[in-house]
Amino acid sequence: MTVRVFSCSCNHKMRFGAGTCSYCFRSSTLLNRIWFYPLTFASLFVLAWLLLQ
Ligand SMILES: [Zn+2]
Repeated sequence: MTVRVFSCSCNHKMRFGAGTCSYCFRSSTLLNRIWFYPLTFASLFVLAWLLLQ
């Protein structure tokens, strides 16, 4: 089972983690990238750590 949460501007449902739409090959939103979530979490963690010094 593949998770298709986000759709492209062409209305094609994109597979989660796909960098580009498989239909029109436009690049997807950052929210569709898997690495975006750990990266955001890591940045927030580092920021919180710096603020709590
Ligand atoms: Zn598309």
